[in-house]
Amino acid sequence: MELSVAGKRALVTGASSGLGLHFAELLARSGASVTLAARRKERIARAAESLCSQNLEAESATLDVTSPDSVAALFSRSKPFDIVINNAGITGEGSAMDMKIEQFEDVIATNLAGVFSVAQAAARSMKAHGGSIVNIASILGLRVSGHVSAYAASKAGVIQLTKALALEWARYGIRVNALCPGYIETPINSAFFASDAGTRLVHRIPQRRLGTLEDLNGPLLLLASDASAYMTGSVIAVDGGHLVSGL
Ligand code: NAD
Repeated sequence: MELSVAGKRALVTGASSGLGLHFAELLARSGASVTLAARRKERIARAAESLCSQNLEAESATLDVTSPDSVAALFSRSKPFDIVINNAGITGEGSAMDMKIEQFEDVIATNLAGVFSVAQAAARSMKAHGGSIVNIASILGLRVSGHVSAYAASKAGVIQLTKALALEWARYGIRVNALCPGYIETPINSAFFASDAGTRLVHRIPQRRLGTLEDLNGPLLLLASDASAYMTGSVIAVDGGHLVSGL
């Protein structure tokens, strides 16, 4: 079975930048009709227009995953999706000793409750015909690092949530899997990875390099497409071996 998503309808949350924008472009170039959703209306509208100008199928939709009304509005306006990429996320870095509870709650609201809210709306619309939900977790949901307590807790939650939803929704033909990227270089973090601390971090990755957005293409298309028809509740790390680095 090839990694084809041609003719499928796909939703990508947090598609205005970084991984989400890349996933939206990848799915559109692979023949899917893609809805790019995020809070920044102008940015996603421009991104969707740019894809349409290349004869690809794309549209934009405003979405705040922390707002149940916003999630409900998007799904009530849209035809059912075959593929939903739950990518929206925030980092909320900070020392656990000093972090305000509001900051912790914001991270959980976006990264965990937001994923649940979108997955639930997606599953209700997929119930009749099935579909694939891909939750973008992180290797920080499986191991920890300094100053990322809220983020690591939220991503660990996403991994366990993925398994729980996979169990409940398999009977409807809805597959739910998680992708756990390691450190992927994007415009937002490239300055850090060029610093001494960033270089030391890269040295601890067994492959001795950061991931690129393209490194995620195969795993994302695998989980999104019918090539993974017998996979649900799976957790795939794409991290250059970072999770198996020596202690
Ligand atoms: P990014 O900041 O470039 O993208 C995050 C996207 O989520 C943006 O489009 C942002 O607008 C959107 N977003 C944030 N809050 C939202 C909300 N309430 N509603 C709707 N959209 C919202 O960051 P990124 O690095 O591209 O991260 C994308 C995902 O990948 C995140 O879930 C992140 O945790 C995960 N991830 C990234 C890396 C990495 O190295 N970049 C590694 C592992 C996991």
